[in-house]
Amino acid sequence: MEKSEEIIRILKSKLSKKSWEMWFGTFSVKEISETLITFSVGNIFIKDWLNQKYHKQFKETIKEVFGRNIPYVIEDELANEEPKREKKVERLIRKRPVVYSEFNKEYTFENFVVGPFNEEAYDGTLEVTKTPGKMNPFFIYGGVGLGKTHLLHAMGNYLLQNSPDVRVMYVTAEKFMNDLIMAIRNNSTQEFRKNFREKIDVLMIDDIQFLMGKNGIQSELFHTLNHLLDHSKQIVLCSDRTPTQLSEFQPRLVSRFQMGLVVKVYDPDVETSMQIARTFAQRNGILLSNEMAREIALSSNNVRTIKGIVTKLAFKSMKEGVNEKTVMKAVKDIVGNIPTMKESVSEKEAFFQMLSSVFDVLPAELDAKIRTANLSRARQVGMYFARKYLHKTFADIGAWFGRDHSSVVYSCKKVEESLRKGNSKVREKIFILQKLLHKQSGESAG
Ligand code: ADP
Ligand code: MG
Repeated sequence: MEKSEEIIRILKSKLSKKSWEMWFGTFSVKEISETLITFSVGNIFIKDWLNQKYHKQFKETIKEVFGRNIPYVIEDELANEEPKREKKVERLIRKRPVVYSEFNKEYTFENFVVGPFNEEAYDGTLEVTKTPGKMNPFFIYGGVGLGKTHLLHAMGNYLLQNSPDVRVMYVTAEKFMNDLIMAIRNNSTQEFRKNFREKIDVLMIDDIQFLMGKNGIQSELFHTLNHLLDHSKQIVLCSDRTPTQLSEFQPRLVSRFQMGLVVKVYDPDVETSMQIARTFAQRNGILLSNEMAREIALSSNNVRTIKGIVTKLAFKSMKEGVNEKTVMKAVKDIVGNIPTMKESVSEKEAFFQMLSSVFDVLPAELDAKIRTANLSRARQVGMYFARKYLHKTFADIGAWFGRDHSSVVYSCKKVEESLRKGNSKVREKIFILQKLLHKQSGESAG
């Protein structure tokens, strides 16, 4: 049997029928050499997915067929036919009656760094992109600067290129509101409704939290969503909080939001932030040492900020090279200039975000009743830290964590005891928290 047939046979045996049919329709073995196996698939999107999801199966299959590990790459056909692709895209775009929304060309799936913190949202977005209308509505939530808008644009860009018949509209909730107000003022609500209900297949509304407390707009939104859902049109929503945390939102809307697929973008932990910094650096042609990556990661766990720092660093490095000093400067330049999140969130929220990134838990879990070893540790250290370094009263701390006075006192004692006994894990966590706090107060001052 030919090697390539054997590869396909074994690979197929490792996958469910469903996955095979769904993802391997365009798959082929393009080239086999001593040092590299080249596979080919229909487009970049499938390539991305296969690389992510089936690495293990590819590796095992190659090992079984060749008796040793050989690296492999997956190519997408379009990428190999550059000139043709241009033509095709052009033609497809011209075929579109109207371009409903402009998408940022930089915000693509290819440019999106995937890690544990955003995998759920990334996978969900790919799924929805592949079969719009299946998981409805699709709701992404998470903190500021973590790539939610990027994902929406990636979906838009992808559909625009690959499914020109799908009519995609992207608006911010604010624009939705402004359009509606204008329509009411101009007596053109009929047209507004036509635009948002009849003329589109995918509606994306970004930063939906903007509509909190805006009851009239919410009613219009409710009917828009209902209409689209009734017609199996895809709805994609983004928010900085969960559906249920959208206060002053009509319950009927909240329950619509929860009806489909809800995914979260977590705050990246320090390790992941380091990885993101390294990836951005690589893309800018610079290499970061561990210490440099850590320096950047500790200054922020916000992807937007990390990107900003690395871009600045790349710019500075043209003249001054990359070293600890230029890294520090870039960090200071960017972090110092960012309008801090602290302005828009309470001290508790800011602190919980810090804690959540250091302990890899969710902020919302910290004051909940859930008990896991890691959460309990995060709470204990958090309470101790709030007392010792934020100079909060026991009562304040109790209110933050939803615990009574005596359990706050107990927690603080426990942590002190651990420190006295030289518990290095606890010490390190506190050290990182201190650094973050230091960075934060730098931010607020800047
Ligand atoms: P959000 O909408 O969640 O506030 P954005 O999507 O606007 O965040 O992202 C902020 C910036 O960070 C953008 O420039 C975006 O391209 C970049 N970014 C965020 N997450 C990622 C990621 N995972 N990979 C690459 N770039 C990212
Ligand atoms: Mg956004």
